[in-house]
Amino acid sequence: MVDLDRRSFNRLLGTVVAAGLTSGVGMTSSAMAKGKASGRVVIVGGGAGGASVAHHIKKNAKKIDVTLIEPNSTYTSCFFSNHFIGGFRSLNSLQHNYDGLKKIGVKVIHDTANDIDSDKKTVSLKAGGDISYDKLVLSPGIDINYKAVEGYSEDVAKIMPHAWSAGAQTQNLRRQLLDMKDGGVVLISAPGNPYRCPSAPYERATLIAHYLKHYKPASKLIILDSKSLFPKMELFEEVWSVEYKDYVEWIPGDKHGGVVKVIANEMSVVTRNGDKMKADVVNIIPPQRASVIAARAGCADGDWCPIMPDSFASKLVQDIFVLGDAATANNMPKSASSAHSQAQIVANAIAAQLTGRKLFPPRFRNTCWSLLSTNNAVKSGASYTAGKELVEQRTSFISDVKEDKRVRASNFKESLKWYDEITGDMFAKG
Ligand SMILES: Cc1cc2nc3c(=O)[nH]c(=O)nc-3n(C[C@H](O)[C@H](O)[C@H](O)COP(=O)(O)OP(=O)(O)OC[C@H]3O[C@@H](n4cnc5c(N)ncnc54)[C@H](O)[C@@H]3O)c2cc1C
Repeated sequence: MVDLDRRSFNRLLGTVVAAGLTSGVGMTSSAMAKGKASGRVVIVGGGAGGASVAHHIKKNAKKIDVTLIEPNSTYTSCFFSNHFIGGFRSLNSLQHNYDGLKKIGVKVIHDTANDIDSDKKTVSLKAGGDISYDKLVLSPGIDINYKAVEGYSEDVAKIMPHAWSAGAQTQNLRRQLLDMKDGGVVLISAPGNPYRCPSAPYERATLIAHYLKHYKPASKLIILDSKSLFPKMELFEEVWSVEYKDYVEWIPGDKHGGVVKVIANEMSVVTRNGDKMKADVVNIIPPQRASVIAARAGCADGDWCPIMPDSFASKLVQDIFVLGDAATANNMPKSASSAHSQAQIVANAIAAQLTGRKLFPPRFRNTCWSLLSTNNAVKSGASYTAGKELVEQRTSFISDVKEDKRVRASNFKESLKWYDEITGDMFAKG
């Protein structure tokens, strides 16, 4: 007798299900035959990736039964949360509900997926009970890797917020900035690659500098970076030297090795080379990894989840797709824009597998805007295609330094339009 490991067994089971030789889990084969449903898709995570997959499957293949599992009834977007921290936008404007998705027939369950049994093809819920799937989509985003910085923890994050997941953490950081005395020091520690939204620490620094310049002019912001290079570097350095001279000091990783320890009761941080620095507001952005449910499903290899570049199907577990920040998408950044683009490919791949719909060759794109000051935004982005093993970049663009004010203002308008469009599409607001 041949011994089958879990992965081989899943592959075999997947082949059998695809061939229609066994009843689909979560529905009967007679239901399939009567055209009542074309299969059951369960999606874990109702953010940029997961909500978009739910919408696009329902929009294009109505007969597929779609269940979205998401603990929060209100989604607060990390994207544009720096605008809130800098005082350019309300928190309310970053919040969205799931009514639109429910209206188009997505079953939304507000609960946490506790575990996944990829042999039985079930997801177990924190509140109890299992949900079966034919295809499972994981877009659970990131978990903060607290252990990567000595002394940092969920409790310490209340004193030294990361604000890298949106909501209470974002409000905490904003509140600390408002409460800080003029003449105070704000410290941001930026992690090494890869992490959620590569340019966001620098946009955050810039928008905090804008706040300090206007409301606390004797104050200063220091970035202790683990890296010595970062995205849109020339553009940020330009605005720091022109608009925020004396407000922003960026100290590259090759000078200190990055923040490795925090001492919360002293409001200080320690770098790899032993330097200690104290500040009034400390924003620790620690290393991250795919949210734990991805590892429980067996989809993670190290911190992130390897995927097939043409469909974002897991390379490790049959019938599971992983997208958004949790996935390893080569040089496609971990952004809402990327997750939304990947979602359309995942939805298309799943619809093709379950209903025989035509499969289009995948094309991905990503655009990241960064706000620098009022009506002054820059952007960068790229298009991608699926190589044999990796997502591959095809074209790219980036704003110029010394750009005309009108171009920057038009970038800002474009970014606001993008925000409305992506959240409109994620949550089927149409
Ligand atoms: C400060 C900041 C600024 C940013 N700015 C931009 C920007 O301008 N443009 C841009 O494109 N991107 C930006 N991003 C990045 C963007 O927010 C993320 O890349 C994007 O949200 C990733 O989508 P996702 O679906 O992977 O994760 P998320 O959008 O985080 O969604 C994950 C969802 O999964 C849920 N979840 C987790 N675990 C479970 C579980 N076990 N069961 C059920 N549900 C679960 C969570 O509650 C969450 O709602 C920014 C990020 C930050 C931190």
